[in-house]
Amino acid sequence: MTREHLLNLDLPALAAILKTAGMPPFRARQIMEWVFQHRARSFDQMTNLSLRDREFLADRFVIFTAEKARHVTSQDQTEKILLRWPDGGLTESVMIPCDDDQADDYGRTVVSHRRTACLSTQVGCPVGCAFCASGLEGLKRNLTSGEMIEQALQLTHLLPEQRRLTNIVFMGMGEPLANLDATCGALKTLTAPWGLHIGARKITVSTVGLPPQIRALAAHGLPVTLAVSLHAPNDDLRRQIIPWATGISIDMITSAATDYFEKTGREVTLEYIMLAGVNTLPQHADELASIARKIRANVNLIYYNEVPGIPFLRPDGGTMKTFQQRLRTLGVNTHVRRSRGRDVSAACGQLARQDRVPLEIHRDTPRTGGDKSRSHRAL
Ligand code: SF4
Repeated sequence: MTREHLLNLDLPALAAILKTAGMPPFRARQIMEWVFQHRARSFDQMTNLSLRDREFLADRFVIFTAEKARHVTSQDQTEKILLRWPDGGLTESVMIPCDDDQADDYGRTVVSHRRTACLSTQVGCPVGCAFCASGLEGLKRNLTSGEMIEQALQLTHLLPEQRRLTNIVFMGMGEPLANLDATCGALKTLTAPWGLHIGARKITVSTVGLPPQIRALAAHGLPVTLAVSLHAPNDDLRRQIIPWATGISIDMITSAATDYFEKTGREVTLEYIMLAGVNTLPQHADELASIARKIRANVNLIYYNEVPGIPFLRPDGGTMKTFQQRLRTLGVNTHVRRSRGRDVSAACGQLARQDRVPLEIHRDTPRTGGDKSRSHRAL
């Protein structure tokens, strides 16, 4: 019998299965505690369970299903893992550490230790953004909610015992809202007290902008931050770089984003990957500002990380600064997202691509530019 992925189950579902096996009601909670709090990798480690119960569980369930195909650590301590799933599919997950000073509610300086996990939601991606390595080969399949949670746990296991993940961004490979049910299942486990117990406000779901799914996410009642990967300030340009933008206008997206804000109370963020000479002109900043003001959105400007074989270029610091300043002058709260892990193929999809295509080929490929520093992605 094929064993079931334990991480696909929530607490009530596990309790129901264990009840039929004659186990007491508290057993499910004990198992979740072992997995999420004590970082157990196998049922053998669950020493407060009887041998009989552990054998039953090991016959019936598997906790981790993926093999860690690669693990690279950047000079800035960003860690990136490439997971190979049992069907051979590859996905990337990233852990971004950030230790800095922040003011608390009383104005005192406190050191904040953020550990942000960037998770994938699909093997490959159906959206096919022109600047993105993940979109190059299209969609292979959706990930299950358990596979998303497994990524979070694999990243947790990289941390010292006293540290835990503090933030989650769904900005890895795939379009989270094209796999909405599984993404919402994962959100449930990430936020549950019996799960990873991360506040919904510390979680960001990034989307290329699918209006019905944005409204469906709002209806789930979890106030996660919604990040819309706009990347172009008008429909003509957007359709040239994001194939899925055909048929979905910016107006349709801003209308859904407004509904999201009204329903959840969470401000929407506009993600804008800066592609040198393509979407970085002053008129682009003016158009972007008017969209952001209309929906009271913050803007994150993202440096493009170049991907061999993709003809887009990373802008220089001066271009970023001038664009940011213009947006701020127009009244838009704008940040430049720090570029992390550049020395370990930071662009989403690059590790997976290297695993499939020999590195020699990448070295021989002329660097004409472009990577998607994670199109709508976190690094
Ligand atoms: S940038 Fe995001 S949405 Fe676009 S192809 Fe890449 S993973 Fe998919």
